[in-house]
Amino acid sequence: MPVAACPRCGHRLNGATNADPREDEAPDPGDLTVCASCEAFLTYGPDMGLVALSKREVAELLPAERTNLVRARDLVRLAKRIPDLPRPAGRAREDR
Ligand SMILES: [Zn+2]
Repeated sequence: MPVAACPRCGHRLNGATNADPREDEAPDPGDLTVCASCEAFLTYGPDMGLVALSKREVAELLPAERTNLVRARDLVRLAKRIPDLPRPAGRAREDR
C-alpha cells in the first residue's frame, strides 16, 4: 500500500487494517478510513490518495457505513490509550 498523507493533519499513513475480516486487506479507491493521528474520516481517491469527508458526506453515507466508520474511530481512540510497551532491557541500558 502506498504511503498517503492525511489531508487534515499531514500524518503519513503507511498501513491500513480492514474492519471486515471477510474482505482482503488492501484498501481500494472509494473505501472509507480513519486517520490514525487526527481521527479524521477519510476516503481513498482514484489514485489512492486520501480525501477528507465533509460532514455532509458523512451524513449521506449508508447507516452501516457510518456505523463502521464511527467504530473504526473509536478503535483508533482506544489504541491511543494503550501505553507503549516497555523497552527491552538491553536497549534501556544503552540509553544510560
Ligand atoms: Zn489526520
